[in-house]
Amino acid sequence: FYSPAVNYLSVGSAPPARSFICSFPGCNATFNKGWRLDAHLCRHTGARPYVCQYEGCGKSFTRDFHRARHFLTHSGERPFECTAEGCNQKFGTKSNLKKHVQRKHENQQKLYSVIFITGSWENQTNQF
Ligand SMILES: [Zn+2]
Ligand SMILES: [Zn+2]
Ligand SMILES: [Zn+2]
Repeated sequence: FYSPAVNYLSVGSAPPARSFICSFPGCNATFNKGWRLDAHLCRHTGARPYVCQYEGCGKSFTRDFHRARHFLTHSGERPFECTAEGCNQKFGTKSNLKKHVQRKHENQQKLYSVIFITGSWENQTNQF
């Protein structure tokens, strides 16, 4: 009878991949990558090691890509574009775009949703 799992256990060694262990008391979480442990440790300490280097800003973040996304607001890059007809305004973050849509195009959305709700309601009453 061939069983690779039993053979592996008989060696008696722990998996070598997960070698980064959280030293926080009572946690013992293990990770196979050093940066994963670093990111995990921030949950315990509340530390934000990624600080924005822009002059006069100094905002700090738990993840590198959070900082990178934030930095777009300084560099003027605006990858999020409003898709509403005749608008085409651009925004640095998705949430800013969302706010804009809610403010500027909210009435349009309400109009559409009212039509949709009324239509479905009529369909339902016809079925009864
Ligand atoms: Zn931990
Ligand atoms: Zn900044
Ligand atoms: Zn717009």
